Amino acid sequence: MNIGAHVRGGGSLIPSLEAGAALGATSIQVFVQSPRMWKPTQYAPEVLEAYREAQRAHPTITHTFCHATYLINLASDDPALLERSRTALAHNLRVGRLMGAAGVVVHLGSHKGAGFDPAVAQVAQAVQGALDAAESVPGACPLLMENAAGAGGTVGRSLDELEAVLEATGRDERIGLCLDTQHLFASGVDYATVARARALIREVDRRFGLQRLACWHLNDSKTPFGSNRDRHANLGEGEIGADGLAPLLGHPAVRNLPWLLEVPGDGDGPRARDVEAARAIHAAGQLLYQRPARHRPPHQGEHHD
Ligand SMILES: [Zn+2]
Ligand SMILES: [Zn+2]
Repeated sequence: MNIGAHVRGGGSLIPSLEAGAALGATSIQVFVQSPRMWKPTQYAPEVLEAYREAQRAHPTITHTFCHATYLINLASDDPALLERSRTALAHNLRVGRLMGAAGVVVHLGSHKGAGFDPAVAQVAQAVQGALDAAESVPGACPLLMENAAGAGGTVGRSLDELEAVLEATGRDERIGLCLDTQHLFASGVDYATVARARALIREVDRRFGLQRLACWHLNDSKTPFGSNRDRHANLGEGEIGADGLAPLLGHPAVRNLPWLLEVPGDGDGPRARDVEAARAIHAAGQLLYQRPARHRPPHQGEHHD
């Protein structure tokens, strides 16, 4: 299993590898600039090259993911904001390529009620424009669209919306997916039984191809199922619960992907005990798939679709 954690980047980025290792994580996610500011952090090429070498040589951290700044809104009807967003995303992608990241995760943005359909072509163009611009530097790093919890007019609140964006890019090979367990739950996607987890993974495969799913964001939820609110809780302390997460973590087709914690911990992000909690849930999830189906008792009083 590959349990990861969001950690602080720091100036040279390399300390983030040690921060992840200190938690017992085997993958990390970092911000490569302040997540709530436009100003890009300018890294010297040697810094990014040194990171790439350090990542390659690191004995325990297998993947580094970057999370793009939250200010990006590729669905904005304000041309200036759209341009800033595309520029910021291109910068994040260039940094990701140069540091050898496994992907840059991005929230596509919000149409603020103007409607999803009119925004699709613009979002797709902006995504491809940023990817094209990032090709000015060597490397290869996919852009990973993240599903949204569904507040306001967020784009990517459903697999259907994410697929529509992908489709509008001509199913661009440079685009992948990062699915967030809390956002799925908040947007009304149920994966709390083996049957439903299987149905979800089948749907992801049918719509995108599982090879596009690069990683997960692993979070419990402070808000109820279908609440459309983006509020992460520590694993086992939220509305999803350990039992609700286990069928997804244990699914044979996705269990070996990086599962990146973005939980609050004590207020300072994932702790070693959060990584341990994730490992325990992952192990429990794997066991669910080891029992032959015919020996599994039927679920009482549950609706099956
Ligand atoms: Zn997330
Ligand atoms: Zn979130």
